[in-house]
Amino acid sequence: MALLVRKWLITLIAAGLFLVSVSLVVQHVLLDSYERLEREAVDQSIEQVGRALQGEQRQIGLVANDYASWDDMYSFAHDGNDRFAKLNFSTPGLRDMQVDAVFVFDENGREVFSAEQQPNAEQYLRPASVPLHQQALDNRAALRSLTAANKVVPLLRTQRGIAVAVARPIIHTDRSGPERGTLVLLRRVGAAMATRMSESSRLPARLWDIDPAKTDDLPANVHSWSLSQLAGATSLSLPVDQNFIRGFMRLTDVNGTPALVVGTQLPRSLYRQGKETARYLIVAIVTLVLLVLVVALVLDAKLRRSTQRARDSETLYRAVVEQAQEGIALVDPDTHTVLECNPAMNVLTARDDKQLQSEPIDRLFDAQFAPQLWSLLSAGSDIERTPVELTLLRPDGTRVNCEIMIYPLTLESRRLGCMILRDVSQRKRAEQRILDHERKLEHLANHDLLTDLPNRLHVMEILPQLIDTAVRDGGTVAVFHIDVDNFKNINDSGGHELGDQFLRAFAARLRSVVSHEDLVARISGDEFVVLAKAREARVFDNIASRISEKLRAPLPVADRQFAVSVSFGIAVAPRDGTDASELLHNADIALYQAKEHGRDTYQFFTRDMTTRVHERAVLEQALRSAIALGQIKVFYQPVVDLRSDVVVGMEALARWQHPEFGNVTPTQFIPVAEESGLIVDLGESVLRQVCLQIAEWSRAGLQPVPVAVNVSAQQLQRTDICERVLSACTAAGISPRLLRVELTESVVMHELERHVGTLERLRNAGVGVSIDDFGTGYSSLSYLKHLPIDHLKIDRSFVRDMTVDANDAAIVAAIVNMAHSLKLETIAEGVETAQHALRLLALGCQQAQGYHFSPAVPASECARFLSPKAEARGQSSVA
Ligand code: C2E
Ligand code: CA
Ligand code: CA
Repeated sequence: MALLVRKWLITLIAAGLFLVSVSLVVQHVLLDSYERLEREAVDQSIEQVGRALQGEQRQIGLVANDYASWDDMYSFAHDGNDRFAKLNFSTPGLRDMQVDAVFVFDENGREVFSAEQQPNAEQYLRPASVPLHQQALDNRAALRSLTAANKVVPLLRTQRGIAVAVARPIIHTDRSGPERGTLVLLRRVGAAMATRMSESSRLPARLWDIDPAKTDDLPANVHSWSLSQLAGATSLSLPVDQNFIRGFMRLTDVNGTPALVVGTQLPRSLYRQGKETARYLIVAIVTLVLLVLVVALVLDAKLRRSTQRARDSETLYRAVVEQAQEGIALVDPDTHTVLECNPAMNVLTARDDKQLQSEPIDRLFDAQFAPQLWSLLSAGSDIERTPVELTLLRPDGTRVNCEIMIYPLTLESRRLGCMILRDVSQRKRAEQRILDHERKLEHLANHDLLTDLPNRLHVMEILPQLIDTAVRDGGTVAVFHIDVDNFKNINDSGGHELGDQFLRAFAARLRSVVSHEDLVARISGDEFVVLAKAREARVFDNIASRISEKLRAPLPVADRQFAVSVSFGIAVAPRDGTDASELLHNADIALYQAKEHGRDTYQFFTRDMTTRVHERAVLEQALRSAIALGQIKVFYQPVVDLRSDVVVGMEALARWQHPEFGNVTPTQFIPVAEESGLIVDLGESVLRQVCLQIAEWSRAGLQPVPVAVNVSAQQLQRTDICERVLSACTAAGISPRLLRVELTESVVMHELERHVGTLERLRNAGVGVSIDDFGTGYSSLSYLKHLPIDHLKIDRSFVRDMTVDANDAAIVAAIVNMAHSLKLETIAEGVETAQHALRLLALGCQQAQGYHFSPAVPASECARFLSPKAEARGQSSVA
C-alpha cells in the first residue's frame, strides 16, 4: 500500500513539474513570438508615422522646388523685387505654403528675403530674426545635400525648436542655371504637424523635441535611449501597460545630432491574443494531462485489480488442484510424459514426481489400455469426452480401478494434455454392493420368503410372456392353482412353526414332481401355482394326475408323517383366456369347484364354472335376506346313549328351505356364510332359536336335553361367544346347562391360549364344550388334556369305514381310549347302521349320532325324543 502511495505521489509530482515546465515553455515560446510579432507591428507603425513625417518634408520640398525653379524667383533672387515678395510671401501666401520661415539667399549668401512666423502670432516677421537667419545660412549647404537625397528628413534645430527644413538652388523654370541662390523653407515641428501626421498615417502620432523634452512627458528611458549612441537602433517599442504599447523613432538633425523622437501608440491586441492563446493552451494541456492521469489511475487500478484477481484465482486453482482427491497431471502429448502433477497423483500411482516424469504414462496402466490412452491423448478438443475406466498398476504390483479423462490444453501455444485420474475402486465395490442388493431385493420382491419359490408378482410378470409366446407359436400354457387340503388344521393344531415347515417341505415336493421347465410359485398361505407349457393341452391331463398322485405320498415334517392331499384347478391358455389375470381367476374357479367336489381332486376350468361362481354370488345374496327374514330354521338330531338307547342330547343343525331354489343344504350355504361373514348372524339366529325352543319344550312339559350348537371360527374370533350364549339363555329363561357348543379342532387350536379362557368361562357357566369332527385336524392328542372340554365327536369319516377298514377302527379305538383316560365323553358321528352302533359300543364309545337313530328333524318332531317332565329324571329312547 505504502509503495502504491509513493508511486502515485511520484507520478503526481512528475505531472506537476511537467505541467509547470510545459506552461513555462508555452508561455515563453508563445508569448515571445507574439511579442516579436507585436514589436514588428510597432516597428511598422512607427515607420508609417515616420513616412508621414517624410510626407511633411516631401510636401514642403515640392513647394520649395516649385518656387526655386521659377523664373520670377530667379529674378527675385537677383533684384529683391518687393512686388514679388508681396505677391508670393504675403502672410496668407506663406500660410498657404504651410511654412514657418522662408529665406532667399543669393549666390553669395546674402539674404534677399526672409520671413519668420512669430511664435503665438499670426504675423510673419520680415526679415526673420538673426539667430534663425544665421542658422539657415550656416546649414543651407547641408540642407541642400540632404534635400537632394530626399530620404532623410532634414531637421534643423532653431532657437525656437526643431523644424523640417528644405533648401533648393534657385534656377530657371526650365531648370537651367546658373543658380542664382538658395531658397530655404522651414516648417516648425509641433502639435499641428503631429495632427497632420496622425491623419495621414492613421496612427496616433506624437513628436518630442529631444532637448527640451527633458521636462516633457517623454518617458525617461525613451529619453535616455534617444540620447544614447547613434549607432544603435533608431526605433524602440515600449509597452505602456497590458493594453497599449508605444513605438518610438529617433531622428537626428542636419548635423547628425539627436533631435526628434516620433512616437505612436498601439493597442496590444496581438499580445493579449497571444496571452489568451497561451492560457487556453496551458488549460488544455493541464486538462489533458489530468485526464491522462485519471485514465492512467483508473487503468492502473483496473490492472491492479485484474492482476490481483488473476493471482487469487491462480492461488485458488492451485489450492484446489493440490487438495483434489483426483490425481491431476499435465502431460506432454508427444512424449506421453508427466510434466507436473498434484500430490493425489503421487498417492494414486504410488510414484514420486521424479518417477512419474521419467516414464511415459502408458507404463502406469495395464498394457491392454494402451490404444485407449493413445486415442485419449490425441483426441481434439471438439471430441465429447467421457471418462474411460482402466486399471492402474502400482510399482508393488497392486491394481487399482481408475477412471481417466484427458483434456487438451494450449499453454502459450504449446499443446498439453490435462490428465485427471480418479480411484473408482470404492465406487465399483459400492456399485457391486448396490447391484447385489438390488438383485436381492428383486429376488425378495419376486420370491416368497418362506419357500424361496417365485411369488404372485413373479407369476404376474412371467405369465403374460408365456401366454404371448404360446399364442404366437400355437402352443398352450396351463395354470395349475393348487390348494393344500386341510392345511389350516395343520397350522392351527401344530402351530405356525410346524405349518411353515410343512409348507417348505411341500414346496420342495411340489417342485420335484413337475418338470424343471415348469414354474412353481407360492401365491398365498397354502396356495401354489404351477405354470407349464405344452404344444397340446392334452399333456396337462398327465401332469395333473401326476401332481395329484405324487403329492399324496406321506410328507415327512418334523419327525412326523403327514398324509397330504391337494385340490387344484387348471386353466389353459389360449382356450380359457389369454389374459394372465383372467387365466389365474379361471384356475381359481376350477380349484373352487374341485373343493366343492370334496377335495383331493382337480378340475379343468370349463365355461359353465363361471356360471356356478355366479350362482354362488346369487346364493350369498339370497342367504343374506334369508337370515334377515328368519328363513333359516333349526333341525335337531338326537344324540343317543349307546348302552341304553336313550336320547341324551341333540345337535342343532341349520336348515334353509328357499322359496325358489328349494332345499339348500348346509354344505352349500355354510361355506358361503363363512366366506361372506354371514355366519356370525346365522350362528346368532340359530343360538336364539335353540334357546327359545328349549324354553318352549320346557313350557310344553317336556324334559329338555342339552342341545349342541355349532360355533364357527368367526363367531369365536369376532364375538364374545360366552357372553352371547349366556345372554341368549337369560333371554329365553333357560339354564346354560341345557346348551353345548361344538367347535372343530382347528378352530380351537387356532389361537389356543385365547380360546382356553373363553371355553373355561363357558364351562364355569355350565355350558358344555365339544370338539367336533375330531381326528381330521392332525393335532396330537396330548394337547387335549390342557383343554377345558367335555366331549369329543369322532368324525364320521372314521365311523363310516371302521367296520371295513382296520385303520379307521384303530383310530376310533385310540380316540375312545384316550378320551376315557382324560375323562371325556366320546360321541360318534355318522352312525348309519346297527353294526356301527355295536362296534362303537364294543370299542367303549358311549354316545352316538346318525341316521341309524334319526336324521335332524324339525323341533315339532322332537317331542318323541323327549320325555315328559312328569317322568322327571326318566329318559326316553329313540325307538
Ligand atoms: P357337522 O357339525 O359335522 O354336523 C353333522 C352333519 O352330519 C350334519 O350335516 C348331519 O345331517 C350329518 N349327519 C348326521 N348323521 C349322519 C349319518 O349317519 N351319515 C351321514 N353321512 N351324515 C350324517 P348337515 O346338517 O348337512 O351339516 C353339515 C355341516 O354344516 C355340519 O357338520 C356343521 O359343520 C355345519 N352346520 C350345520 N348347521 C350349522 C350351524 O347352525 N352352525 C354352524 N356353524 N355350522 C353348521
Ligand atoms: Ca357338529
Ligand atoms: Ca361333525
